[in-house]
Amino acid sequence: MKFESIIGQERPIRFLTQMLQKRSIPHAMLFTGIDGVGKQTTANALGMALNCLSPVGVSACGECHSCHKVISGAHPDMITIKPEGAFIKIDQVRALSRQLRFAPLEGNWRVVIINDAQAMNLEASNAILKILEEPPKGTVTILTASQTTDLLPTIVSRCQQIAFRPIPYEKVTEVLVELQGLDKQTATTLAVSTKGSLGKALSVDEEKWTIWRTGLVEQIASLSIKSIQPVFAFADALARDKDRLADALEMIMTWVRDVLMCKVSPERIINKDFMTKIEYASQGPSVNELLEKVGAVHAAQTAISQNSNPRLALEVMMMRIFR
Ligand SMILES: [Zn+2]
Repeated sequence: MKFESIIGQERPIRFLTQMLQKRSIPHAMLFTGIDGVGKQTTANALGMALNCLSPVGVSACGECHSCHKVISGAHPDMITIKPEGAFIKIDQVRALSRQLRFAPLEGNWRVVIINDAQAMNLEASNAILKILEEPPKGTVTILTASQTTDLLPTIVSRCQQIAFRPIPYEKVTEVLVELQGLDKQTATTLAVSTKGSLGKALSVDEEKWTIWRTGLVEQIASLSIKSIQPVFAFADALARDKDRLADALEMIMTWVRDVLMCKVSPERIINKDFMTKIEYASQGPSVNELLEKVGAVHAAQTAISQNSNPRLALEVMMMRIFR
């Protein structure tokens, strides 16, 4: 949990270490970015650095009594709040407010981390706003969320915002090869399909994922407009598998993109293990037709993320892909 061990977030880490060097610590920060890019780990690393008894430069030593407590989750001045069920509730924030009336117990700083702050209901949000408006001495509050638009503008405006970008695919690939022992091809496709979320890539069961991915690619490659029933059946099956729908669409996106790349820039193909199928699929359609297919998948992704009926969105996408 030291700054040095956070992968692919050089900009936020540089900002935070400079802030520590200047000893000018904002009382409230908002870390934004998709899940699995290191927001919570960085918040913990910051708390650890602020309270470390023998810091190395501005980074935590990882060895002292205070660091050990942070690592084991037992530091009394590191308070983490996360959704209980779907929401962060008012009772959780009330309990926090009571704790904040007292000075930090052990450390120099009390660090409050509110994970998935977008899960705060309106009541909880307003209670947090009160804390941000009158920040207790020696307390740093760090909120994490996917994007600022998920929060009350009044909360956002009180926080120093730090954006965490998706981690570059090459970096995720490297970690998957080194830590999980995956071969480069599997690691690359997994990195691309998890869109720069290292946390997500690391949590995937690689064997199950490979079987799922192979099945998906083989189905897309075998479909054709000549028999429309299997095309609709495929759309229906995708729509039913709600938990994996976003991943499936991303996989289909890399597939149609690869078929397009095969015509214009084959060295950029991602699913190289399906080269024969990609080459075959790229023979018929023109570049413009393939661009239209990419547009069709993108439109379905957008529609579904905006809560359209998945089945209808997928049927339209399939018709546009296979016409
Ligand atoms: Zn330490």
